[in-house]
Amino acid sequence: MLDISSSVSLFENAGHVIPGGVNSPVRAFKAVGGTPIFIKSANGAYIFDENDNKYIELINSWGPMILGHAHPLITEAVSKAIQNSLSFGAPTAREVEIAELIVSMIPSFEKVRMVNSGTEATMSAIRLARGYTKRDKVIKFEGCYHGHGDSFLIAAGSGAITMGEPNSPGVTKGTAKDTLTAPYNNLEAVEELVNANKDEIAAIILEPVAGNMGCVLPKVGFLEGLRKVCDQHGIILIFDEVMTGFRLAKGGAQEVFNIEPDLTCLGKIIGGGMPVGAYGGKKEIMDFVSPSGPVYQAGTLSGNPVAMAAGFTMLSYLNEHPEVYQNLESKTLTLKKGFETNLEKLGLDYSINQIGSMISIFFTNEKVENFEDAQKSNMDLFKNYFHEMLNRGIYLAPSQYETLFLSDALTDKDLNDIISANFESLKAIH
Ligand SMILES: *Cc1c(COP(=O)(O)O)cnc(C)c1O
Repeated sequence: MLDISSSVSLFENAGHVIPGGVNSPVRAFKAVGGTPIFIKSANGAYIFDENDNKYIELINSWGPMILGHAHPLITEAVSKAIQNSLSFGAPTAREVEIAELIVSMIPSFEKVRMVNSGTEATMSAIRLARGYTKRDKVIKFEGCYHGHGDSFLIAAGSGAITMGEPNSPGVTKGTAKDTLTAPYNNLEAVEELVNANKDEIAAIILEPVAGNMGCVLPKVGFLEGLRKVCDQHGIILIFDEVMTGFRLAKGGAQEVFNIEPDLTCLGKIIGGGMPVGAYGGKKEIMDFVSPSGPVYQAGTLSGNPVAMAAGFTMLSYLNEHPEVYQNLESKTLTLKKGFETNLEKLGLDYSINQIGSMISIFFTNEKVENFEDAQKSNMDLFKNYFHEMLNRGIYLAPSQYETLFLSDALTDKDLNDIISANFESLKAIH
């Protein structure tokens, strides 16, 4: 067993002064039990805890560390930026540069507004869609996560046509009634909702590849179908690419699947590890945002110079090094093959979903195409698997409902170590 005594005592202290001991719930290991690992530092593909245990990284700050931790180009850009003060609250040249870069990397972007988190991006995009269409309702999908904005903390009602219910206290019934939910990959359910709420739907928002119920891919025709429904009914199609943006390709999932949404939300990789989000899309819609338009949205620290230095350096690198995406995919396929071989050797039949550098093993032998399927996973097995892997020095996302994110810093040896740990861990839990 690893010595994690420092994490144990820190977590205890944290519990006295921070709700649940963490500043974001998934970090608390609630889904897997045990004590969260407190991190001291990270470099490349490795992360080190307060007891100096070393782990191979498969979370990568939930995505941003696509090049590995403490990448020299990014740390250098940040070090340079901080010399000139940490914030101005006034426009800078860097903001123009990063906006031009984003517009050039993602075809559906004509204009972009920077914010400070993915949550802010999705909240703002929804407000904009409502303001622009003069409609109130939005459709989201079960199992998709769009940050903690009130409109998104909605559970499905019973039956496709019923209204959603708040799934957090503090979200009002009034807010919940404007959010309709459908099962992911179910186009008929969407059409039903749209027909039952004619001329009332402002937007359909989704993760074009879902990563927040584990990795779930859109079925052939699903994204195309949504684009068509939106076009027919004057609905704004919003891709929440906070996770997939700059990860699946430099143009995100929309490049991979060749679908143009009206608005896109970005986050995670866009800040290179700094707190950044963005939303953007068609000029005609984006010009509805203040100060050029009537939909209000603002931010004291938006476009922060240090965050922009990190983000600009990250995006420039990805833009100039398309081979990163091929490398990431081939590393992920190596893992997938290794996992499949292990499962076969052990006579197990679990579902693996993968695209680009996102991959999930679901502890169920049924195909996983939506949240209901993902929920069929054996959570006790996942829990045991997670701890077996952690003990072998592999840092996995502490929930069956999270995808893994590879970084380009992983070496062949790291991949082999992960595959061996996977075999030993699977063997140990069965
Ligand atoms: C992480 C995430 C968000 C929220 O971003 P924060 O920066 O955590 O607020 C929104 N949408 C998706 C798809 C995400 O993965």
